[in-house]
Amino acid sequence: MNFKKIIQETYQEVKSIDDNGKVASYIPELACINSEKFGIHISSINNDNFGIGDYKDQFSIQSIAKVLALSLAYHIVGEKIWERLGVEPSGTAFNSLVQLEANKGIPRNPFVNAGAIVISDILISNLKNPKEDFLAFVRSISNNSELNYSAEVAASEKKTGFLNIALCNFIKSFGNIKNDPSDVLDFYFDLCSLEMNCKELSEVFLFLANNGNSTIDNNSILTNSESKRINSLMLTCGFYDESGEFAFKVGLPGKSGVGGGIIAVLPDQYAIAVWSPKLNEKGNSFKGMKFLEEFTTKSDLSIF
Ligand code: GLU
Repeated sequence: MNFKKIIQETYQEVKSIDDNGKVASYIPELACINSEKFGIHISSINNDNFGIGDYKDQFSIQSIAKVLALSLAYHIVGEKIWERLGVEPSGTAFNSLVQLEANKGIPRNPFVNAGAIVISDILISNLKNPKEDFLAFVRSISNNSELNYSAEVAASEKKTGFLNIALCNFIKSFGNIKNDPSDVLDFYFDLCSLEMNCKELSEVFLFLANNGNSTIDNNSILTNSESKRINSLMLTCGFYDESGEFAFKVGLPGKSGVGGGIIAVLPDQYAIAVWSPKLNEKGNSFKGMKFLEEFTTKSDLSIF
């Protein structure tokens, strides 16, 4: 594949850059990771795949899981989901409370914590066994029955998740949470604790490069329109208040997580996962952002 050489060169180049980022420690369990890890894996819809570095090591995908939760919830409830969620970039931190008051409990988008907490509420209302059914959905997308939550990470976040607890209760006071906040938060913490390696992550996200269809059996996971909209939201809202910067420098829909992972998608071509745990001051992987910027520049492949 043409990308292989560019990935190898860019990997070496970015690996040696002085990384002044910091591993997320507000979820204590995340601070236990070796901060020097760096892995990349690309999966293409033509089955051209390539990985380098620590691409076989699992990590906590954190907020990247919000895209999968949105996919399932959107497919179940359809367009009326947007009565409970906005589609605008927030321009504030991922865990910010400030806009919720002015917006009367309607989160700005599904990828800030407030939005993913509302999505969690929707899934709880619509799934029989939310934790098991959501995991089954994620496993089925990539035909990988090994994928799982981390009980340690979920427990660690639950113990220290005061801001998320506040967000959920605040939204509930406006009537935009229908279930018991503690059930919603338990599901949200489990969701964020999903673990994958770069190879698994790029395989799970390949359906968003394939118009919402599975590349394994061509089954429809999302409609074309749903897939287009989720990619649009990743482009405009996927990187907290650094979303503009990512679109500007990388030019791909993507989503980051505080575990240091980033997934990016080039529709009709590939999904690429990058992992490096040290985060910049906006909470995005320092080396992950750098790598993807160099990669799309050198390969001349982005959506623009
Ligand atoms: N579980 C994390 C939190 O709620 C997710 C944050 C992230 O990855 O952006 O704080």
